[in-house]
Amino acid sequence: QKAEWAKLKNEKTISADNVEFMTGANIGTPKDLDGVLENGAEGVGLYRTEFLYMDSNEMPTEDDQFNAYKKVLEGMDGKTVTVRTMDIGGDKELPYLPLPNEENPFLGYRAIRISLDKTEMFRTQLRALLRASVYGNLWIMFPMVATLPEFRAAKKIFEEEKAGLVAKDIAVADNIKLGIMIEIPAAAVLADKFAKELDFFSIGTNDLIQYTMAADRGNERVSYLYQPYSPSILRLIKHTIDSAHKEGKFVAVCGEMGGDPIAVPLLMGLGLDEFSMSATSILQARSLIKKLEVSKMQELATKALDLDTTDEVVELVKAYTN
Ligand code: PEP
Ligand code: MG
Repeated sequence: QKAEWAKLKNEKTISADNVEFMTGANIGTPKDLDGVLENGAEGVGLYRTEFLYMDSNEMPTEDDQFNAYKKVLEGMDGKTVTVRTMDIGGDKELPYLPLPNEENPFLGYRAIRISLDKTEMFRTQLRALLRASVYGNLWIMFPMVATLPEFRAAKKIFEEEKAGLVAKDIAVADNIKLGIMIEIPAAAVLADKFAKELDFFSIGTNDLIQYTMAADRGNERVSYLYQPYSPSILRLIKHTIDSAHKEGKFVAVCGEMGGDPIAVPLLMGLGLDEFSMSATSILQARSLIKKLEVSKMQELATKALDLDTTDEVVELVKAYTN
C-alpha cells in the first residue's frame, strides 16, 4: 500500500468524479519542511508558530521569527503557507512569559486573547510575517477567535503594522489573506457573519470538539465524549463551510479530522476545500479521495447530518466507502 501511495506524490488531489481538493501539511518548525515536500503536500495548511516561542529560553526577536517564516515560505516555493499567530496558553507555557495561574486554563487567557492584550508581542510577530511575505504565498490566521470584535481588532493591528512597514519603504506582499481558526463554537455559529469580513476559515476540530462537547481533549475519563463524527460537530462544520462558500471564501480543516479516513469522506461531501494534516498522512488521504465520488459523499453527508448518534454516522460512512 505504501508503494501505491508513493506514486501519488506529484499528483493532484482529485476525486473519482473530478472534483479537485487541496491536501496541506501541518508543521511546527521549518525543520518539518523535508517531510512536507517528501510527502507531496500542496501547501502548508497550519504552521503552529508557538513552537518558535516554546523552543526558546527567551522571547524570539523579530529577526528570529522573520528568518523562520522566510525559510518556510521559500521552501514551499509559491505554494500557500497558512501561518497561525501564536497559540500560547491552555497547556502551552513559556518560561519567559509568566501567565496567571487559572482554574480553567483552556477557558482562560490564551492565544488571540493574549495577543490582543500583549500587543507588542503580537505586533512583533506580525511585522516578522509581513517582512517575510514577499518570499512566498502567505496566509495568516488567528487562533481561538470567539467574536467579531476580536477579529476586527487583530486585523486593525495587522493593517497598522503593514502601513508602518510600507511607510519605511520595506517591501510587503499585497495579497496576504487573513482568516481565523474555527475552534470555538460561538465562531462556528456566527460563521455567516465572519465570512463577510475575512478571506478564509480553518476549522480546528481538536478544540472545536472539546469546546462543543465540554470535554477536555486530554482527559481519559471523558474521552468517550470526544466524538469527531457526532452529528452536532458535522452540523457546525456544515454551517461553517456553507457560510464561507456563500461569500466565495475558502475553508480548510487543520485538526485531526483533516486526515482521518472516516472524516475525509464526510468532509468531501460537506464541500471542504482543503484537508490539512501531518505530512505522513497526506498520501494516504490523497489516495482515499481519488477513490471516492463527491456526488456520493454529498448523499452520505446529507444522511449523516440527520442521524442521531456518532455510532450511526460511523456505520453509514463504512457502508458508503467499502
Ligand atoms: C485544533 O484545535 O484543531 C488545532 C488544529 O489546533 P491545536 O491542535 O494546535 O490546538
Ligand atoms: Mg486549537
